Amino acid sequence: MKHNFKLTFMITLLIMIITVLSAILSYVSFFLVTQHAENVISQNITFVIILFALFVLSISISFLITRIFIRRLVKPVETLIDATNQISVGNFDVRIPSFDSDILNDTELSLLRDSINTMAKELKNNEIFKVDFINNFSHEFKTPINSILGFAKQLQYSDLTSEQVKEYSGIIVKESSRLSELSSNILLLSKLENQTQIHEATTYALDEQIRDCIVSLQLLWEEKDIVFDLQLDSVNITANKELLALVWRNIIGNAIKFSYQSSNIDVALIKGNGKIKVIVKDYGCGIASKDIPYIFDRFYQADSSHNSTGNGLGLTLVSRIIKLHQGSITVESELNQGCKMEIVFNEM
Ligand code: ADP
Repeated sequence: MKHNFKLTFMITLLIMIITVLSAILSYVSFFLVTQHAENVISQNITFVIILFALFVLSISISFLITRIFIRRLVKPVETLIDATNQISVGNFDVRIPSFDSDILNDTELSLLRDSINTMAKELKNNEIFKVDFINNFSHEFKTPINSILGFAKQLQYSDLTSEQVKEYSGIIVKESSRLSELSSNILLLSKLENQTQIHEATTYALDEQIRDCIVSLQLLWEEKDIVFDLQLDSVNITANKELLALVWRNIIGNAIKFSYQSSNIDVALIKGNGKIKVIVKDYGCGIASKDIPYIFDRFYQADSSHNSTGNGLGLTLVSRIIKLHQGSITVESELNQGCKMEIVFNEM
């Protein structure tokens, strides 16, 4: 209602101007007639002629003022219609500038303009997001497929040594499992993105789950001669066990993957002040500060030397799962110094 006030005031002012103008013209005609006509008949005739002339003049002036005013109102409406037409045919770059007329600022029209601009911006972001997703997905898909194809063709040759056959089929198995992991991650991500709360929550020992996870990754950390320093309080948590297992597997898996040979990884589980905190700290290659804001984005891989292992979806899944559990994750890292991930849940 507040926004209408300015417009109502302007229309009232316009009507007042027209009324005052008509009154002045009537008075002028009356004055001219009484001053210049000699008798009653000629007075009447002159009066009618002058009145008619002034009437026409008054109508013309009113018409002109109203037209200028209406034009100021209609032009922005036409701009809005034009913009929505352009959006409807897929031009999301369209933006409506501020209206020339000051009267229209803070009115429903300017609010509508802002909403249309926001809508176009959101649609544009959505489009970029979709294109990026398809590009990234195609890229992640194409690399292992090409590799599988190449080595499968090699296997068709009969003069291969048994070592070569073993090596090529090993690559095919590895790339196939990468593809399979990629599609499971995509499926899980889309499922979790449509979910607003966790399903199938159970109460279980979190310290045991973290220990089991480290044991399941033994082959990887033994290969790198990594030593774990564990400080795990006995903590029970109510959560989706399967999803949280995925979180620890990704975070501890990354800590191993990005650690240097013969280094340490510290894992702590602390309970206190109504919070459950898990800290995973490695002393590996770390993340550059410019990359930190993006590591939870889909397909983002800051370190290109590890592109062949992983697909940049792990931390996206991790952050979604933690969010569904009303928790938070923070990252502290410095290039070549290591990386510390801290996950906090509220105690239930
Ligand atoms: P990926 O499959 O590549 O591991 P993630 O989503 O798990 O994908 O991680 C995204 C990126 O974040 C990684 O490619 C890496 O650049 C960076 N990153 C994650 N964890 C660590 C870590 N512990 N140390 C260094 N970099 C990390």
